[in-house]
Amino acid sequence: MKRYDIAIIGSGPAGLSAAINSKIRNKDIIVFGYKDFSSKLVKAPKINNYLGFHDISGIELKEKFEEHINAMNVELTYERVNNIYAMGDYFSIMVNETMYEAKAVIITTGIEYTKPLKGEEEFLGRGVGYCATCDAPLYRDKVVTVIGYNKEAEEEANYVSELASKLYYVPMYKDHYDLRENIEVVNEKPVDIVGDDRVQKLIMTSREIETQGVFVLKDSISPAQLVPGLLMEDGHIKVDRTMKTNIEGCFAAGDCIGKPYQYIKAAGEGLIAALSAVSYLDSKK
Ligand SMILES: Cc1cc2nc3c(=O)[nH]c(=O)nc-3n(C[C@H](O)[C@H](O)[C@H](O)COP(=O)(O)OP(=O)(O)OC[C@H]3O[C@@H](n4cnc5c(N)ncnc54)[C@H](O)[C@@H]3O)c2cc1C
Repeated sequence: MKRYDIAIIGSGPAGLSAAINSKIRNKDIIVFGYKDFSSKLVKAPKINNYLGFHDISGIELKEKFEEHINAMNVELTYERVNNIYAMGDYFSIMVNETMYEAKAVIITTGIEYTKPLKGEEEFLGRGVGYCATCDAPLYRDKVVTVIGYNKEAEEEANYVSELASKLYYVPMYKDHYDLRENIEVVNEKPVDIVGDDRVQKLIMTSREIETQGVFVLKDSISPAQLVPGLLMEDGHIKVDRTMKTNIEGCFAAGDCIGKPYQYIKAAGEGLIAALSAVSYLDSKK
């Protein structure tokens, strides 16, 4: 299997800055992310604090980023990473059924503003999951609920509905939903996930659903879930000034390492993380 020098997880300003700087240093990289790069980028109405781009919209800044990475032949892999395992001198990166390998990893997954639902953490692994496609076979002929925070969740819901006996989709955004006909859309706010040993019900504002599985599909999951063993501090990944985490060869940058949550800080840290990853790789030669 091909082993990349650096895998960058996330395509916001931190990830893209890490990508261009790794590329400048001639590293063989893989960057995981989304077509829009970052929902936080395209949602910003006006940005006045990104040096060199006064009074620019998030969409315009996204286009500038796109021109830049295209000019440098940085390609994105449009996949969501589910888990990263430190194997000693390399990392295994799990994406649904596919596995990638890299000698160093840079985590730039941003931060999730929404708090976990009541019961979400308690039932994680006992009916609650973050990757519907990975765990779908466990729910063959069972009732499953997908709480989707973005459009990508619709694709996962469609896949799971092929196996589940019944699928409820609870959208946390307003849009047109591209869902299979047998999926029931429930426009309610989820409040609590309950059960005894395993999940039994999802309680919503004015309705309850009997369900054996609940998938919570957000833009990003907690870094500690993503990388087992990663040290966190106050809800953020703990790093030193070189963006090094507690795991050798694993670096982090951007909102996921702490406040302030700003584009140019994220981009600056992405640069530092890339240079630190390059030094780490050179030290292994
Ligand atoms: C409405 C709004 C307006 C804002 N305005 C400003 C402003 O004017 N100025 C300013 O400086 N900042 C602003 N911000 C803050 C700014 O958006 C963030 O600080 C910045 O986007 C952080 O960059 P990042 O690269 O760390 O993370 P993000 O931009 O959040 O990017 C992380 C990316 O990684 C992806 N990802 C996460 N997990 C995975 C995974 N497992 N696999 C693959 N990909 C994954 C995410 O989906 C996302 O695309 C604003 C934010 C919002 C929401």
